[in-house]
Amino acid sequence: MRALKKFYIEITSVCNLACSFCPETKRQAQFLQPERFSHILDEIKPYTDSIYLHVKGEPLLHPKIDQLLDISQQKGFKVNITSNGTLLHKNRHKLLGKPALRQMNFSLHSFDGHAGSTDKEGYVTGVLAFAKEAAQEHGVLISLRLWNLTEDNATNVQRRRNREVLSILEREFGLDYKIEERFERGKGLKLAERIYLNQDHEFRWPKLTEREYEGKGFCHALRNQAGVLVDGTVVPCCLDGEGVINLGNIHDKPFGEILEGERARRLYDGFSRREVVEELCRKCGYRQRFGTS
Ligand code: SF4
Ligand code: SF4
Repeated sequence: MRALKKFYIEITSVCNLACSFCPETKRQAQFLQPERFSHILDEIKPYTDSIYLHVKGEPLLHPKIDQLLDISQQKGFKVNITSNGTLLHKNRHKLLGKPALRQMNFSLHSFDGHAGSTDKEGYVTGVLAFAKEAAQEHGVLISLRLWNLTEDNATNVQRRRNREVLSILEREFGLDYKIEERFERGKGLKLAERIYLNQDHEFRWPKLTEREYEGKGFCHALRNQAGVLVDGTVVPCCLDGEGVINLGNIHDKPFGEILEGERARRLYDGFSRREVVEELCRKCGYRQRFGTS
């Protein structure tokens, strides 16, 4: 039996922001109903007990997020939520104190990514107030993400933009050093007990319109991760936000059968031989991170 360390469940395809680096979904706007959520958990239970509520969309827009957390708890799942952090004031009572909630990731780069953003100070301090309460009083792990570095992080605009946020973090956590001095790409910087800062390059979604990378490659998809979009489409990874690699619908077919289905097997066996079978994978920069040979 395969162990999927990460299983992504998209509970809504709708977002309240429109980040420049996040292609808008062409799929129908939908919210996952609790019964269907419950069914997904039953299907994936033999493979994992850790779920990540995000592919596209903003999970805190889901009006029944508290109910989804309760169902997760009943069924023995730990929940990780990735959010842009703009809707915490409306949702804090639905999140805090829920025993299933293990980790929250806040995409702070969404502030600059969304053209209509206003009041950066208010936004960041609002996220931090929630983060501190969640971490200190409820044992929730917090990852503050700033994924907006350029390849060499050299442009002044980029540095200045990040400096504003970093200054707020230094002040709010009483740090006696400049964050840049301790920065190591890909490694979280501990700001306080259970609160980390993660900085990385801007994220690029794989697209069929991109050019293909050449050569062999490998990806952990279907080995230690998989996902399901809000309409039930099973995808191999959290990067297939449009369901291009549609492996089947979890509401029509048992998940175990989908994993053993022809398309899933071809992708999996292909990567075992370092062959990149799917077109989307050949256009995915993420695959490159695992190295080609
Ligand atoms: S990156 Fe996140 S916050 Fe920004 S539009 Fe996409 S889903 Fe919404
Ligand atoms: S190579 Fe990219 S698109 Fe293909 S399964 Fe892996 S992460 Fe997903």
